[in-house]
Amino acid sequence: MTKEVEGVFQSSAFHMVGDGFRVANYFPNGNKFGREISPFILLDYHPPFYYGPTTHKRGVGVHPHRGFETVTLALDGYVAHHDSGGNSGIIGPGDVQWMTAASGVLHKEYHEEKFAANGGSMHMLQLWVNLPKAVKMGAPKYQTILAGQMGKVELPANAGTVIVIAGSYNNVQGPATTFTPINMYRVLLNKGGEVKFNLPAQHNTSFLITSGEVVVNKSYTAKEKDFVLFNHKGEEISVLAKEDTQFIVLDGEPIDEPVVQYGPFVMNKPEEINQAIEDFNNGKFGVLEDK
Ligand code: MN
Repeated sequence: MTKEVEGVFQSSAFHMVGDGFRVANYFPNGNKFGREISPFILLDYHPPFYYGPTTHKRGVGVHPHRGFETVTLALDGYVAHHDSGGNSGIIGPGDVQWMTAASGVLHKEYHEEKFAANGGSMHMLQLWVNLPKAVKMGAPKYQTILAGQMGKVELPANAGTVIVIAGSYNNVQGPATTFTPINMYRVLLNKGGEVKFNLPAQHNTSFLITSGEVVVNKSYTAKEKDFVLFNHKGEEISVLAKEDTQFIVLDGEPIDEPVVQYGPFVMNKPEEINQAIEDFNNGKFGVLEDK
């Protein structure tokens, strides 16, 4: 049975995160579809944008996170990351940084130094994935997943490629470890190419189109920067590329627990938010130099 399209939505207007990330938000603030799509709690998309050369550190300085994961996918450009867990890394085109904040980390995210010095086009996205109550206060964790480590499925008839970041597609597994069932893919389709998905009806499923134009389930057109949301009926999706197209598939089993969000803290109860603020103010998220 076909997984029905709930709607095709656009983002909020652009805003800057720090001075290095020009993003459009799809949810929660830019949400035009009026419901939660657990386990996903935030999607910021940075379409291609050219930054001139600078010797200044361009990006976002030290900030906390508790109770969820930040997933950063670079499509073009280079992003550097440091956190108070002692983890750091640089991701470039096709790489993913999957940071589990859990009980809490301090974090900073910048354009990588050489990339900033030369200037160049940045194209990336950041997704926040909620954690179930049982692991919200667990140990932080960090996964750098390079493009070459991703699962890869070449589609028949030279239609294109499905790159599996998390979960699986046609029995090919992605490298990311997740705490609840999630499928996250990058899909590259050639003009005229077709791809089919079979995803559980109860999952929250969406596409973010990053370039090109497609027809979904033979009836919905979606193009660059469109967000396609599916409802909870059916499992099967078909996508036909009207031109060379790239899109991201986000699919996950909802976490059936209350969500209370205050900025970078995502917990289950208001008291836990107060505790997070108190712990942050008391330096319990560790130490991270702001330079
Ligand atoms: Mn962060």
